[in-house]
Amino acid sequence: MMPIIVQKFGGTSVADSKKILAAARKAIRAQMEGNQVVTVVSAMGHTTDALIALAKQITDQPPAREMDMLLATGEQVSVALMAMAIHSLGHRAISMTGAQMGIVTDRTHTKARIQSISAARIRKELDEGKIVLAAGFQGVNPDFDITTLGRGGSDTTAAALAAALHAAACEIYTDVDGVYTTDPRVVPSARRMKRISYDEMLELASAGAAVMHSRSIEFAKKFHVPVHVRSSFSDQPGTMIVAEPESLERPVCGAAMQKDEARVTVLGVPDRPGAAMTIFTKIAAKNVAVDMIVQNVGDEGLADLSFTVARDDLPATLMAVEEAARAVEARGYNYDDHVSKISVVGLGMETQPGVARKMFRALADKGINLLMITTSEIKISVLVDRESALEALRTVHAAFELDREPPTSGAESGTRALAANGNNTAEILARMQGMEDLLFEDVSLDESQSRVTLRGVPDRPGVAASIFEEIAAQGIVVDMIVQSVGREGKAAMSFTVPDKDLPKSLATARSLAARLGAAEPTSAPRVAKLTVSGTGMRSHTGLARRLFQYLAGAGINIDMVNTSEVRLSVVVDGAHGQKALDLLKKEFADVIV
Ligand code: ADP
Ligand code: ASP
Ligand code: MG
Repeated sequence: MMPIIVQKFGGTSVADSKKILAAARKAIRAQMEGNQVVTVVSAMGHTTDALIALAKQITDQPPAREMDMLLATGEQVSVALMAMAIHSLGHRAISMTGAQMGIVTDRTHTKARIQSISAARIRKELDEGKIVLAAGFQGVNPDFDITTLGRGGSDTTAAALAAALHAAACEIYTDVDGVYTTDPRVVPSARRMKRISYDEMLELASAGAAVMHSRSIEFAKKFHVPVHVRSSFSDQPGTMIVAEPESLERPVCGAAMQKDEARVTVLGVPDRPGAAMTIFTKIAAKNVAVDMIVQNVGDEGLADLSFTVARDDLPATLMAVEEAARAVEARGYNYDDHVSKISVVGLGMETQPGVARKMFRALADKGINLLMITTSEIKISVLVDRESALEALRTVHAAFELDREPPTSGAESGTRALAANGNNTAEILARMQGMEDLLFEDVSLDESQSRVTLRGVPDRPGVAASIFEEIAAQGIVVDMIVQSVGREGKAAMSFTVPDKDLPKSLATARSLAARLGAAEPTSAPRVAKLTVSGTGMRSHTGLARRLFQYLAGAGINIDMVNTSEVRLSVVVDGAHGQKALDLLKKEFADVIV
């Protein structure tokens, strides 16, 4: 059987007729080299933006179904032209829409998820010697309505087709020659990586690295598709997205910025199980992905619950929050739509402490205030004022010397990700209802840590850096950190440390509190940290909701939360650890592979 290659050309790579002909030649060449070729194409240039602008001229709130009808036309233009280009060069080709390829999605418009692909028609055309031009970004729902997969979704079409066709390779041709340590347009000193792991790329993409649609990496990881990101305008090799990272020696592999974020705080939420669940259920119902969740228990048993969402999602989020705040009898809510999120990502972080501290120090030295902090095993995110965002990104990129080659190549470390990939694809699919369903791998419990909370910490640059420098000076390795939004100039900081270090940590926290004019620190020994791991955890909007729902149902209150694409961790009262673990294992049993 001839190997199948899936290629994808982004908007700039097919922006005019000359570029379309150049892309057509690349497709033909791949076929001449002995492959069957499926070429996914995006809308030409800025067509999608132009169509959106057109719709906005007609109405502020175009119906989502009609938006999809409109946006899908962009890709239809490019596949038709590409097919003509290939014909004109003397080869056989056929263009196909999402529906013709049997790409069936759920019923969500503008952010649809792929449920299944019936590859038969594509295979038939390939077997007849044609190059298949696949319209990216679109599908069809069970009612035969046209759907789209979300901005940047052609990458996901490509990865999904590669998975469904068991392709030998998935080549993403774009206007950069690979994946860089951060957006090279923003930070010119960024370095092109030879290789990046699925998990790192997933986190970077969802943290703002727009070079790949994060959901495409979910597919690639789940179905073991190696992805090659490379330039449309040259033949140089680019970056391979595979199971193994480029290096584990270096704690951080890349940095990303999400410039247009919004922070929402629900104020005075009764501190009882279920309140957070109600809020996230209402938001999930609007298909909004919630990020950087921080809960801060205040006085009188009332908590402030803060989280961030994409700024475009703010109107929908506020509608949900409005309802939810009433339902849980919160005091009210506020928001800030002038914030940006800066994240650093790296698998090496798991084994090398001090990354958060270094990041906070670098930002403090530039006088940049951290409005919110959350950390997970392989990602640290901070929220800053939008004005400081660019400088913050450049600062962390420089602080971790990301412009330099990593010390060693991680070629030997292949076992790590491969172990997790030992399952066979058919088996995974059989357990999922849809190709793009959430994939859980494990639920684990860590009972080896304690929590320390500092309240009334001054909300100014440098405070986080000095706190974690002092803790580190005592030889204490901090695991999870969350810093809540400041209120009246004061913020709260919670972190976890190994149990044995609790007395030392608390003593340090006390002296810090005295110096900073903060309140007496509080602590909880032997808390339980529960971690659900999998793929695409953050972009599946319902996950946080389900987790909160199960724990609330059992009367278990959540102290700290962290969300990332590959892990969702919560810290709960130590007495409830085992119970919570058993519960989550049971509830997620049907989906854990
Ligand atoms: P396409 O139209 O081909 O899908 P995109 O515009 O979606 O292209 O993605 C390519 C762009 O992503 C680049 O031009 C670059 O500015 C941006 N980008 C953001 N982060 C990164 C990164 N870490 N590495 C490479 N490019 C990045
Ligand atoms: N044309 C769509 C967009 O601009 C999909 C894509 O380019 O990936 O978002
Ligand atoms: Mg893109």
